[in-house]
This record gives sequence, structure tokens and C-alpha cells, in this order.
Amino acid sequence: MNAHIGRGEGDHRVAVYPGSFDPVTFGHLDIIRRAAKQFDHLIVSVLNNLTKSPLFSVEERVELLREITKDLPNVEVDSFRDLLVRYMRSKQAQIIIRGIRSVTDFEYELQMASTNRQLDEGIETIFMMTNPKYSYLSSSIVKEIAKFHGPVQDLVPPAVEAALRKKYTGDRPG
Ligand code: ADP
Repeated sequence: MNAHIGRGEGDHRVAVYPGSFDPVTFGHLDIIRRAAKQFDHLIVSVLNNLTKSPLFSVEERVELLREITKDLPNVEVDSFRDLLVRYMRSKQAQIIIRGIRSVTDFEYELQMASTNRQLDEGIETIFMMTNPKYSYLSSSIVKEIAKFHGPVQDLVPPAVEAALRKKYTGDRPG
């Protein structure tokens, strides 16, 4: 037996970590690294949410995630625009990973987890507590700082820092 968490015995445990990742931060990366240790396969999947207007395209977000997880052999990066539980079934995944930073996160996450459970009882949501170092960190905060050309090197990997610099250089109207 090993120390893995999740369902079943002896089966291949596939987890999905869904999110906007606009852009990925050290907080997300910490969850990815820790989750990758717990499951046979981890799919980090960018939600293509047509109602939000992101800074980075889905392709850019996927590319950045691939770059920063390339040293993790059991991590795959993908994107989806389907209902999460249906996407999970198509990937034969049983576990949803979500990160919790605060009570505010918890309320929203509980609602999401309960909804997904209602849609498919076979799918389990597992929450991972933030590394206290990153408990304040969000993609929005990073974008806010980068917009004003503030320092983000302690918040995001170098590839993301470079991508942010490119987005916010020069050509912004107003
Ligand atoms: P979403 O729009 O789906 O919430 P995010 O990219 O903002 O997408 O977050 C994806 C997941 O990562 C969520 O479960 C969120 O709570 C978690 N997360 C975001 N930032 C951190 C952090 N600093 N520490 C731990 N978990 C985090």
C-alpha cells in the first residue's frame, strides 16, 4: 500500500485540477506539485469560460502551464469548455483538486463541490490548503501589480513574469 489519497484500491488514480490560471501563480504551482505526489496522473485543465474576459488566451495559459510543469512527468496540461463532470468522465478521472486560501474560498468551493457531487456521485472533490506563504496570492493581484509595472518575481515563475511584461508593455491605450 502507498500513502495516496483518493478512491479505489490498486486502480490508476487520475485527478483533475481545473481553474482559470489567468495567469498561473506560485500558489497554483504549489498545489500542482503537492497534488502530483498524491495521484498517478494529474491533469491541470484550463477552463475556457466564455463569460469571463481573461488577460491571457486559453492557448497562452496552457503554454505557460506546460512550461512551468515540464519537470513533473505525471502532470498533463489541457483545457476544456464542457461541464466539469462530463470532462472528467471523458478523461476517466475520479478526483477534482481545488485549493483553499480562506473562508471566502471555502464557501464558494463547497457550493461547487456539492453541485458536482449532485451531478455525479462517483466524483470526489479533494481540497488542498494553501501554503501559508501564498495564502494572499491570486491571479487578480498579480495582474493588478503587473499592470502598474510592479515587481511580481516572488509571485509567479519567470516565464509568467516575462509574459506579463509583454502584455503590459507600451501599446496599451489610455
Ligand atoms: P477559478 O476561476 O476556477 O477559481 P483560479 O485560477 O483562480 O480559477 O483558481 C483555481 C484553483 O486554485 C481554485 O481552487 C483556487 O482556490 C486555487 N488557488 C488559487 N490561488 C491559490 C493560492 N495562492 N493557494 C492555493 N490555492 C489557490
